[in-house]
Amino acid sequence: MAQLGGQPIFIMKEGTERTRGKDAMENNIAAAKVIAEAVRTSLGPRGMDKMLVDQFGDVVITNDGATILKEIDVQHPAAKMMVEVAKTQDSEVGDGTTTSVILAGELLKRAEKLLQQKIHPTVISEGFRKAAEKAVEILEAMSIKSGIDDMEGLKNCAKTCMSSKIVSESRDMLADICIGAIKAVAEKGENGKWTADIEKVQIQKKEGESIDQTTLIKGIILDKEVVSPGMPKIIKDAKILLLQSAIEIEKTEFDAKLQITSPDQIQQFLDEEEHMLRTMVDKIVNSGANVVVCQKGIDDMAQHFLSKANVMAVRRVKKSDLEKLSKATGGVIFTNLDDITEDKLGFAGIVEERKVMNDSWIFVEECKDPKSVVILIRGGTELIIDEAERAIHDALCVVRDVVEDQKVVGGGGAPELETAIQLRKYAQTLGGREQLAVEVFADSLDIIPKTLAENAGLDQIEMLMKLRASHQAGNKFAGLNLETGDVIDNMMADGVVEPTIVKIQAIKSSTEAASMILRIDDVIAGAKSAMPPGGPGMGGMPPGMGGMPPGMGGMGGMPGMM
Ligand code: ADP
Ligand code: MG
Repeated sequence: MAQLGGQPIFIMKEGTERTRGKDAMENNIAAAKVIAEAVRTSLGPRGMDKMLVDQFGDVVITNDGATILKEIDVQHPAAKMMVEVAKTQDSEVGDGTTTSVILAGELLKRAEKLLQQKIHPTVISEGFRKAAEKAVEILEAMSIKSGIDDMEGLKNCAKTCMSSKIVSESRDMLADICIGAIKAVAEKGENGKWTADIEKVQIQKKEGESIDQTTLIKGIILDKEVVSPGMPKIIKDAKILLLQSAIEIEKTEFDAKLQITSPDQIQQFLDEEEHMLRTMVDKIVNSGANVVVCQKGIDDMAQHFLSKANVMAVRRVKKSDLEKLSKATGGVIFTNLDDITEDKLGFAGIVEERKVMNDSWIFVEECKDPKSVVILIRGGTELIIDEAERAIHDALCVVRDVVEDQKVVGGGGAPELETAIQLRKYAQTLGGREQLAVEVFADSLDIIPKTLAENAGLDQIEMLMKLRASHQAGNKFAGLNLETGDVIDNMMADGVVEPTIVKIQAIKSSTEAASMILRIDDVIAGAKSAMPPGGPGMGGMPPGMGGMPPGMGGMGGMPGMM
């Protein structure tokens, strides 16, 4: 705080904490390193899994970097930035989350040494930026062309990405499913470029059976059953009426009293109701529809008439499902039965009710628009299904990456090691302090093959030496095959392949985060607003800066987890 003639001047609110200069930087780097350390052991096919338990006791078992970091409740601001790295990586390319976080941690760890040598943070971050730019160039240049027609490349990428997941045993068939799904939704633009939107691939989960019973359904699944047992359970060449209104007699808004004086009148009354429902059903049947999907209810009597006409009907379907069906089958959603015309009905090759465990679901397949697909995930327990979903998400992303970007590299640490070697050569053209920073960047990349080796119980130094020798001999894709524990001259030949864009994004996002953290020399944390003791968010936190005491005070709960 500033002083004026012995009088303190208060510039910031009381309770504000401030860490400056070396302390701030050391704190931030330490926090970032802890995050990187937390996910380090889960890298690669031989990596370990994490069991995460939230405050309600819900358990998640995973090996997915993004998920691990999403689940743990991080407090420290610099640690939060590391979590962002994983999120960015996940939303941009869908894979390589662990890699990017480990890289960011290593960059910071080595930058700390440069700081100790009195190299200014701006110089370091400038050097990192140059190195990252060059690394992207190197990765692009070493890539091999692939794309939507390269079945082998797509499959190897999908399999490599799933080999580090708990469901890796089933990766072969899951890879086929993911490729089928992406190929179905992929579109070729006018400029000849392919795009694939993974949002179009729907995921449905159902406990029971095993992962191997997971299937790709070209169409849509409704979590509903046929409304009446008298109706057909399967309809081929279905003409589908999508209806937003009820097939019921509307009740009056107000109470009405009906004076009935003779039994005839009751009969007349019922006949009239029956007649109205019959007219409604006739309108449906006359339109040519043989399947009715209704957002509201269907009267028992109407069900009876529909059954007699051999029409399959489903009621109380979610609006969103109706909209999906409309897209998939090309049918218009009607609100009034008088408007129905045959050409506005939806079409599907087959609509069938099938039993899935104890439930019956309606499968709408062979739709007009072949772009709607569902992956129906099966598995023994919820934990497995959830992890399978994450693996499938990653694989879908990876396949999409290759379809869109059309470039791949060998995996197993090969791209990182090759980039490091070439970066060191590039560094020599720079000279001065920047050279140092670029060299440090190159050394940081080695952390990927090193960690892969370490997680597989192999000797890091020995593996690195062997790998370097192979790369010097001109094998740009020499890497570690962790299934055999050997150094392989060409990972591509062993089917360990990754999209180039995943590697590039990992470098970009980790460099950005590292540079950002390095440039912070002042952490000003406002006083936390007063909260009742034990109130939400205060759990175990020291008052004041929400866990900013030197060291890792803010990593609430984490040490126990590792
Ligand atoms: P990330 O979250 O970064 O994708 P993963 O745990 O999925 O982390 O591990 C990815 C790393 O594992 C990549 O570097 C990839 O090349 C490597 N990898 C995957 N399968 C193999 C394999 N069979 N042999 C060697 N390395 C592999
Ligand atoms: Mg992965």
